[in-house]
Amino acid sequence: MQPYSPPGAQSAPRRIERLEHSISSAGIALWEFNPITGERHWDAQMYRLTDWPLDQPPPSVGTFREQLVLPEDHDRHRRAQETVELGADVSEIEYRIRTPDGRIRHLLSRCRAERDAAGSLTRVFGTTLDVSELRAAQSAAYDAAQREKLTADAVGIGVWDHDAATGDIHWNDAMWRLYGRAPGATAPRLDQWLGLLHADDRAESVHKALRALDLDDSFESVVRVWRPDGQWRQIAHRSRIERDAGGRALRQIGVAWDVTEQKLAAAADHARAATERASRAKTEFLSRLSHDLRTPLNAILGHAQLLALDPEIELPELARHRINHIQQAGWQLLALFEEVLDISQIESGALRLRPRQVPLAPLLDEVVGLIAAAASERQIETRIVIAPDAPDTAWADRTRLAQVLGNLLSNGVKYNRAGGLLSVSVQAEDGSAVIAVRDQGHGISERQLEALFTPWSRLGMEASNIQGHGIGLAISLKLIEAMDGRLEVRSEPGIGSEFRIRLRAGLSDAVEAAPPHTSATLRNDIGGTVLLVTAVDATYEQLATWLRRRPRVQLVQAQDNDSAAVLAAVVQPDLILIAAGADATRAIALKTRIATQTETARLACAIWLDDPAAAAHDPADWPADLDAAEFLSRIDRLLPRC
Ligand code: ADP
Repeated sequence: MQPYSPPGAQSAPRRIERLEHSISSAGIALWEFNPITGERHWDAQMYRLTDWPLDQPPPSVGTFREQLVLPEDHDRHRRAQETVELGADVSEIEYRIRTPDGRIRHLLSRCRAERDAAGSLTRVFGTTLDVSELRAAQSAAYDAAQREKLTADAVGIGVWDHDAATGDIHWNDAMWRLYGRAPGATAPRLDQWLGLLHADDRAESVHKALRALDLDDSFESVVRVWRPDGQWRQIAHRSRIERDAGGRALRQIGVAWDVTEQKLAAAADHARAATERASRAKTEFLSRLSHDLRTPLNAILGHAQLLALDPEIELPELARHRINHIQQAGWQLLALFEEVLDISQIESGALRLRPRQVPLAPLLDEVVGLIAAAASERQIETRIVIAPDAPDTAWADRTRLAQVLGNLLSNGVKYNRAGGLLSVSVQAEDGSAVIAVRDQGHGISERQLEALFTPWSRLGMEASNIQGHGIGLAISLKLIEAMDGRLEVRSEPGIGSEFRIRLRAGLSDAVEAAPPHTSATLRNDIGGTVLLVTAVDATYEQLATWLRRRPRVQLVQAQDNDSAAVLAAVVQPDLILIAAGADATRAIALKTRIATQTETARLACAIWLDDPAAAAHDPADWPADLDAAEFLSRIDRLLPRC
């Protein structure tokens, strides 16, 4: 079907037809009307755009508005019509129509008016273009841009846009906030922006920006921004440059966000890592130093012991007294090395604990035995009180718990009044095992309590003649905390102090049968000399600690087979104990040499195996998993009573 056309229009020259055809293929509709005759003409494209029935003449402007234009756009449409009627030669209007099948179209109409000499309208003609797709695309882009803007604003991402042609720069609200300024002001130009940065960041920023323009199209940098509220913030920027086909920069679009916290966290991580490295280096240094110093110190102590013990050497009383001093000072020095090592290991996190169910009664018995001699020197009565409901065990590293209790008890002796009472008790409290060490000393004031667990603080005791380094309690606290426990203190100046260790209580049936602890009690009726053959200081320390329960037993150390053979011949010990370590063959060789050497053949000699899997070649040899009680009961069996 052909669109309706007035007869005159069909006689138009072919040239015009072709023009109309090309205009129509561009989607542009043509229309015209004569206000004097009322004659109206639409081309086929205009019919297509409006879906107006092809067999109908084009509607009047009023009918067009009433039947097609959306009511919301009526006013605008009418105003455009009036503008032309009132004298404007050109008018442009965009409006929406609803086609008979219900679709909405956005139309852009441009019209021209022709008038006669008197100014009356003679002809109105124009074009109409369907801009629906463009508007839809723009609306989608707008929605997307709006969404982006909202999201960006909500998460604090600044967005900026620099138009290379006009030089216009736009910042979103978040961008302003990042720079600590009220949104809306004119965005700074490059030179003004540089002025907002830390002076040290400007040169690099310019360099990067220019490089991005010239070369690689992307720009990334983190700059320090000075904000009017007095803060320096670190702002990361990333941008991209859009270019035309010829490579000319059209615009630069960028995002920015605050990375101050990340940078601070990264700096803190860096500092922490550096501190940890330094701390590890310190620990390594201290452990090497401690080891290097302990070796000669052990030699000093060993020779001092030899001097004191050698029956061939007749020493005057004064010399014995001085040798005794050398030994005491040596032990103190050794203890200090241990403490320094402990605290540095704790601080560096290198300390490894082996928590397990620890039977408490034998442990208390053992540690009280260790301070018994010192206590009796000051006429301090020691007492162990185990409440009827006390848990049998606590979850702890046995050696370290013994160390803590040893420290608390030795403080209880040192800072007690002469003739005072020192008690250690166990009781159950809220499912925990509480071990309390109570003394009747001068107590600790509230102000002193604040610094009690600070390493190297002696709270005024440095002026006294009481020995100490102010580090034991700091170590104790860390050790108990590492066992998931708590160390609490209560003190009344002039009355005394109570230190309470709170640990997870264990179940008695979870424990292997505890060795009879009677053997671990202090015994003064066992005496003699033990020659321990080991190059490992820790082994020597362990046995030395256990042997403090047998104060009349002397421990002498030999570090290798040759010196062991000589020492055995000179000292004639009551027991030679060879710690096998990793080298069982060396231990067996020494045992054979001892047995075959005339001066030593009669001496008791046993190998202390290191590897529990290595079958003892002699039932007299000592097992690897020996603990204090078992060790002492063997000592009691082998060494003479005195
Ligand atoms: P040290 O005893 O070697 O000085 P500690 O870390 O064990 O080190 O103790 C720190 C300080 O706390 C001591 O120097 C002492 O002043 C005080 N202190 C510790 N235990 C007691 C106690 N039972 N009674 C009074 N003061 C104590």
